[in-house]
Amino acid sequence: MIDLTGKVILVTGASRGIGRETARVLAGAGARVILHSAANRQLAQALADEIGPDACHLVSADLSVPGAGRGLWRDALAWRGRIDVLVNNAGIYEPVALDGPDADWDAGWARTVQINLVAAADLCRAAVRHFQGRGEGGVIINIASRAAHRGEAPDYPHYAAAKAGMIGLTKTLARAYGKDGVLAFAVAPGFVETDMARDALTVEDRAALIATIPLGDLAQPSDVANTVAFLASGLASHATGATIDINGASHVR
Ligand code: NAP
Repeated sequence: MIDLTGKVILVTGASRGIGRETARVLAGAGARVILHSAANRQLAQALADEIGPDACHLVSADLSVPGAGRGLWRDALAWRGRIDVLVNNAGIYEPVALDGPDADWDAGWARTVQINLVAAADLCRAAVRHFQGRGEGGVIINIASRAAHRGEAPDYPHYAAAKAGMIGLTKTLARAYGKDGVLAFAVAPGFVETDMARDALTVEDRAALIATIPLGDLAQPSDVANTVAFLASGLASHATGATIDINGASHVR
């Protein structure tokens, strides 16, 4: 049984999907969880009502705005004056066409890289400085993607590139700040049963996709959430720098 009692954990993108389930699992293991949302604060509020007011706190930020990660960290830190674990989960999966207008290409790349990589990096930076400053270390868990290793469908090169960047970021943090007690992990899911996958996949796409997954279905958010809880516990500290694949053996490295 994983025990996270006493840990304060910030989960970005906790309103829906993987983030919501992760926050539930972490709270169930005893953590106090800071629930970040953007457009769907009412969903985060519903989760907060479920978890209970003493065990969680709500923060909001649109991470498409450059620098918003810094404000988010300040708001989150103000709740308890400490954060022990950062889970960078918020993300988007929006297509951009190779043969579309230049303006769409530029905007698509800028938005995806800002939300999926730069905002996460800003939060990692704030977390490392906090962990160093208090002298106790801490844990960073970045939700990347199978796309980082395998590449993605043609309209998602920016998504794959941002997720690959996230893994490079994670490895660097693990190597640079392990001496300060900072642990950094990445998690790389294949398709997971959330709004993101449902919005992106037609019925035909879904059937074709499932045919490529030896376990015969998409992963569930709980597959990722349970992995995050384990990594957050510090029970596998010497795995720092590693990326955990969760893809039903559809891409075995
Ligand atoms: P989801 O169900 O679409 O939820 C996305 C979350 O990100 C929501 O909580 C959303 O907040 C937040 N978010 C979206 N735009 C944002 C913005 N501009 N600023 C701040 N937050 C924003 O996605 P998911 O499937 O749970 O994915 C979670 C993470 O796992 C993402 O990083 C994704 O890339 C990764 N992942 C997912 C899959 C998959 O198949 N589902 C596979 C591999 C990796 P609001 O609802 O409040 O707007």
